[in-house]
Amino acid sequence: MSISLHIPFSNAYAALPDRFYARVLPTPVKNPALIRFNSALAQELGIELNADSACSTDNNSDNQLAQIFSGNEIPDNAAPLAMAYSGHQFGQLNPQLGDGRAILLGDLLDTQGQRRDIQLKGSGRTPFSRSGDGRSPLGPVLREYILCEAMHALGVPTTRALAAVSSGEWVIRDGREPGAVFTRVAASHIRVGTFQYFALRRDGEAVKQLADHVLARHYPHINSSDDDAYLQLFEAICRKQAELIAQWMQLGFIHGVMNTDNMTVSGEAIDYGPCAFMDAYHPETVFSSIDRNGRYAYQNQPAIGQWNLARLAETLLPLFNDDEKIAVGKATAILQDFALWQQQAWLEHMREKLGFSALKNSDQALIENLLALLAEGRIDYTLFFRRLSDCSQPDSERQALLELLNLPECRSSTTLLQNINNWLDDWQQQLIQRGDSDSAGQRMLNKNPAFIPRNHRVAEAIAAAEEGDFSIFEKLLQVLAEPYRSKAEYADYEQPPKPDEKVLRTFCGT
Ligand code: AMP
Ligand code: MG
Ligand code: MG
Repeated sequence: MSISLHIPFSNAYAALPDRFYARVLPTPVKNPALIRFNSALAQELGIELNADSACSTDNNSDNQLAQIFSGNEIPDNAAPLAMAYSGHQFGQLNPQLGDGRAILLGDLLDTQGQRRDIQLKGSGRTPFSRSGDGRSPLGPVLREYILCEAMHALGVPTTRALAAVSSGEWVIRDGREPGAVFTRVAASHIRVGTFQYFALRRDGEAVKQLADHVLARHYPHINSSDDDAYLQLFEAICRKQAELIAQWMQLGFIHGVMNTDNMTVSGEAIDYGPCAFMDAYHPETVFSSIDRNGRYAYQNQPAIGQWNLARLAETLLPLFNDDEKIAVGKATAILQDFALWQQQAWLEHMREKLGFSALKNSDQALIENLLALLAEGRIDYTLFFRRLSDCSQPDSERQALLELLNLPECRSSTTLLQNINNWLDDWQQQLIQRGDSDSAGQRMLNKNPAFIPRNHRVAEAIAAAEEGDFSIFEKLLQVLAEPYRSKAEYADYEQPPKPDEKVLRTFCGT
């Protein structure tokens, strides 16, 4: 053995009662090969990698990492288990979901003292697999890797990617696809659906134990001996989700499957299945092939977040130390506040996107007017704000920005062009009046990304990898690691898809 790997597991979740999970080991794969290991994240987690023989080579250590992050070798002190949860999927309650293709290796305190989960995804069947095979195709593994690391670099709270390993096995979906295992790191994998699982079973004791675990783990600032500690917990979760969804909205991100089992109580984004960033802006945009009614369309995300949190509230009501009517009233008030917090957080993000140093009442109309113009013209959302960042001065050259109206999918017209020019005049006037003109440009470049994981780029990286070429995947990760810094050699990555590159539908990772 050429390296030894030490993961400092301490496994708080495994200390919860047996009915919270099923202990299960990963099913070994035939021929694991390391695709990528995130050394920087490993370091953050306090994972130690020691070369303990002079003849150790990169290949040897890659092989060993592949053994561990495929599930073929169980690291010391791991306590592998599949978590139980329920969930509303597209509005329909499914009482029995759970980790059907994921196994929690364990949790640990990272170098910052934060508890983090390390989970294998695609590591074989569990008691929650139902009719599934417990495996993941390579495509969804790379997709999740790219998306979550890009989101992290963009500044969005998210689960992270520690490793991707190809399995050397085929998985059968529509056809035969190469298999892979993804290693996911999360503040925790506790979902709204985890609370629902116990509430549905009328297991109030378990709901309380879970709430206590979440309080201690994610919201230690709340005093658990306060009478209203669980109401405070609910409010804190709502605030985190308000901020998360505001981040998605300001970046033009569509999660795609906002089922209650895909919403964490930590406030991290989780489960990058059929998600996508919009290219051309339109509020009704939907990509997911399974979202036939557009339930999870871009503009619906705040309302769906609220709906999911109402499902969470239902599970927590008995802990609110009030008679039911009063408890419902308090939860409802917080849910109403959620809508305000979400809106306010979004306004603050949009204010920054426009380079204003402080929010004014009139800004909401200014933002909405702009978005209406972007929607009318089907203008590229990300590129518009990026180029807008170079237009903050009254004498700025507008050419590069207005050229976006010539993109093939744009619905341009002379009136639209005129309206955009008028809007730009108003905006520049506002910047001048507030004394923001000189500083806006630089601030905007730090807020409006040049690089997002555009669908066609992700699809291109996956297609090449399926043919054995991982270089495009690697390059894309490199580009996305610094999303706010334009580089001449990466200029192509800022561009929206050409008509023949456009991805119209995204698919689930199942
Ligand atoms: P997701 O669409 O990833 O949120 O998954 C929804 C549910 O289906 C979860 O309980 C998953 O564990 C389960 N699931 C998805 N794919 C598979 C699979 N290939 N094998 C077993 N269970 C799966
Ligand atoms: Mg899920
Ligand atoms: Mg998923």
